[in-house]
Amino acid sequence: MSDTALVWFRRDLRLADNPALVHALERHATVIPVAVEPPAYGPGARARAWRAHSLVALNAQLERRGARLLTLSDPAPEALVDLARRTGAQAVFANRVWDPTSHAWESAVGDALSAAGVALHMSESAYLVPPKTLATTSGTTYRVFTPYFRAWQRSALLRRPLPAPPSIPLPPEMPTAPPVPAAVTSVHERWTPGEVGALEKLAMFAAGNLESYAEMRELPAVAGTSELSPHLAAGEITPAQVLWAVHASRIAEEITLPFVRQLAWRDFAADVLHSFPDLASRPLRSEFAAMPWREDRAALERWKQGLTGYPLVDAGMRQLAETGWMHNRVRLVVSSFLTKDLLVPWQHGERFFRDSLVDYDEAQNAFNWQWVAGSGADAAPYFRIFNPSIQAQRFDAAGEYVRRWVPEIDAPGDYPEPMIDHAEARVRALAAYGSMRPA
Ligand SMILES: Cc1cc2nc3c(=O)[nH]c(=O)nc-3n(C[C@H](O)[C@H](O)[C@H](O)COP(=O)(O)OP(=O)(O)OC[C@H]3O[C@@H](n4cnc5c(N)ncnc54)[C@H](O)[C@@H]3O)c2cc1C
Repeated sequence: MSDTALVWFRRDLRLADNPALVHALERHATVIPVAVEPPAYGPGARARAWRAHSLVALNAQLERRGARLLTLSDPAPEALVDLARRTGAQAVFANRVWDPTSHAWESAVGDALSAAGVALHMSESAYLVPPKTLATTSGTTYRVFTPYFRAWQRSALLRRPLPAPPSIPLPPEMPTAPPVPAAVTSVHERWTPGEVGALEKLAMFAAGNLESYAEMRELPAVAGTSELSPHLAAGEITPAQVLWAVHASRIAEEITLPFVRQLAWRDFAADVLHSFPDLASRPLRSEFAAMPWREDRAALERWKQGLTGYPLVDAGMRQLAETGWMHNRVRLVVSSFLTKDLLVPWQHGERFFRDSLVDYDEAQNAFNWQWVAGSGADAAPYFRIFNPSIQAQRFDAAGEYVRRWVPEIDAPGDYPEPMIDHAEARVRALAAYGSMRPA
């Protein structure tokens, strides 16, 4: 029997810092890289398009090292079992994906492989501190970020990322398989899906905006953040690589801390999703079941189209529509507007973001929507309601961001009046939120 293993690429579309790939090559003479279309794939059109481009990019990287990617369109566990059988592979290596659907898929694949006598070896690389690692003193999952972050700082170890293997030997007899499908839907020109694009972004950020991140990160007109989110979501780069680049920049720790904190929020969200698998649909705080939301379809449509009459909200929604991404400060403002000013259930916003974001990630999206709505972990107090006009004055004082995305703002008559008076909406929201608080 040939000494070969399958390397199952999942949300780890890269060759560097890929423990599954490294372990497979250490233990087997040859490997067969394979990607499988996930079952009931949650992400919407944008994230799917990204993945399609990323698979093409991964195949190109593999070809440079003498290998190539097989793709299976059937997510049934038997499809991988069948491939292992046809190729004589003795083991499958993969990196863990933590969201509930992927986790369940992994278990089903593991069971099917083990019934066929093939081992599934799992590695960790998606988080600096994977879900289930940290617990409060009473043994529960953290629900508040500050103590989580203290524990996280003790656990998130700096390590040198694994290099990409210089060559990836295929078995002499590779199964015939269709080539990696070409990506049919384009992603906005600002993005370069794939590992090469991810590493370039990281290098540019570490050498450039990292130092000024704390001052610039709240300004949507400036490209002051890393813009690594879609690359992290597809696993084209690991957070360990990001942390290592921060360390290698030799910038003082107190300056880089605000950025490192964001990586901890990412881990926190994954931990919360793991312990609360319904995070994308059900409020974490049970009292929110009684929240008097308004199922206002017309208002939701205006919000989606960026026609609310609040320039910062509309600029954000249009940036999202055009590029598949939105600045974090503006994500906070638009999500607060939908859930508090319009009282539309956060689940509608969550779903719309899922369909629109190139960086869609179940944990981060659901966690942040619930955080803003007040129903989630470490949620902001319900009476903190962003005033979209004051937010614009604070974070886009010169109106540069708004003008970029809402150019008609300067032409009187072309831009809609505010769809709701913020002061009145605030009073209504306070009453609604107050009504469901436990007496
Ligand atoms: C309503 C709402 C929905 C969101 N949905 C998503 C989503 O689906 N996918 C996603 O990746 N991010 C989501 N975020 C978090 C955040 O807005 C983006 O991660 C960030 O804007 C990406 O830009 P960046 O890579 O330049 O971030 P940077 O500021 O450079 O941060 C570095 C990395 O840290 C992580 N990060 C940053 N902010 C947060 C945060 N608030 N929570 C968790 N992780 C964070 C991201 O992985 C990011 O790439 C959402 C935020 C809100 C308010």
